[in-house]
Amino acid sequence: MTAEEYLEMAARFRREIVEPNAAQWDAEKRQPVAALKQAADAGLMRLETPVEAGGFGLSFLTKLALCEDMSRADMPFIFALINTQNVAARLSATANPRHLSDYVPHILSGDLFAATALSEPGAGSDFAGIATRATKVDGGWELTGEKGWITNAGIADLFVTYAQCDPDAGWKGVGSFLVDATRSGFSRVEPYALSGGHGIGAGGFKLDRYFVADEDVLGGPGDGFKSAMSGVNGARVYVAAMCAGLVADALEKAVSYGAVRTAFNKPLLHHQGLKWSLADVATELEAMRTLTHAAGVLIEEGGDAVTRAAQAKKFATERAVSLIETCIQAMGANGLREEHGLGRHLISAKILGYTDGSIEMMNERIGAALQKEYAS
Ligand SMILES: Cc1cc2nc3c(=O)[nH]c(=O)nc-3n(C[C@H](O)[C@H](O)[C@H](O)COP(=O)(O)OP(=O)(O)OC[C@H]3O[C@@H](n4cnc5c(N)ncnc54)[C@H](O)[C@@H]3O)c2cc1C
Repeated sequence: MTAEEYLEMAARFRREIVEPNAAQWDAEKRQPVAALKQAADAGLMRLETPVEAGGFGLSFLTKLALCEDMSRADMPFIFALINTQNVAARLSATANPRHLSDYVPHILSGDLFAATALSEPGAGSDFAGIATRATKVDGGWELTGEKGWITNAGIADLFVTYAQCDPDAGWKGVGSFLVDATRSGFSRVEPYALSGGHGIGAGGFKLDRYFVADEDVLGGPGDGFKSAMSGVNGARVYVAAMCAGLVADALEKAVSYGAVRTAFNKPLLHHQGLKWSLADVATELEAMRTLTHAAGVLIEEGGDAVTRAAQAKKFATERAVSLIETCIQAMGANGLREEHGLGRHLISAKILGYTDGSIEMMNERIGAALQKEYAS
């Protein structure tokens, strides 16, 4: 399947399935599992997994286009979908024959949902400070601890899980392990009651002397941390693309509304103050897309994307909340009606300000590059 065919199919899925149902899913405070399976049936999970492993092997830039387009209707839906497909792509890259036969095809078909678990109830930004402990035993490792704020936690049965193998070694002790939720030693915690974004399914799980065989170690001490940090750059860029989708939809609704709603005998859009406020939104949307694309090209080409990914995410997540709020303001009280979805977009933008590193952590990354990149 070509990128164009894939994106056309995704846009059709957005129009026919996601747009008409997103408000209902959120009101019911649940993950739309049936729709995620339907998306898998349509082929949406096959995005990045290589052709030889059953996927479409499409590019990172295609992923960005998908994330922007689908977020126009429902960011939580695409966030959940991307998080599960990420695991299929990752397992295909390591090419363990058992993972390729027992897990990857089931993720692609939507029979199995997957997730990536770095965060814990007591550690988010300070990833090297995770307390989940991995202890070496005969033939593998034993994991004990609790993960929190994990996307798809209630529906996933497969977790790429990070744990500390050597507490004295800091980040150099962090490894990554494949955790199968159907095995003993795994238990879920109650899903979180949140203010919105229920389609993401954020929750947690506990591990009690959970045994991981050596063949299910994805990255040993230190390698686990490095692989998480390299994966997170891509995540930061697709999160920025999701912000662009939220803002693009809010702007489209505000402009369409402003063209027909009149006040003081002329359309709202003919009032200079209102028109200029939306001109600002349009300009910042294009800036968001430009930063996102530049970082995306670096990821695609395998370049050092740390600073550009952080800049794209910082700008997009910091500005999206205020830009969506401007669009709501431009629609007057009608901007609050559920049918427009802008309230959902607002909380979605707020959520994206935390996922894959907060705005403050982006400042840390950019700040660390100041002397190298911005001083002669
Ligand atoms: C809906 C949702 C889904 C998520 N999905 C996943 C997932 O799938 N997998 C996963 O592993 N995690 C996931 N996360 C967790 C996310 O990565 C964390 O929320 C994020 O890393 C921030 O950690 P924290 O919330 O624990 O905040 P904390 O680390 O407790 O920080 C609290 C505040 O202090 C600020 N802060 C912390 N340290 C500093 C500092 N040195 N300087 C300045 N400010 C600082 C932070 O920026 C933040 O504003 C998800 C979160 C949400 C909301």
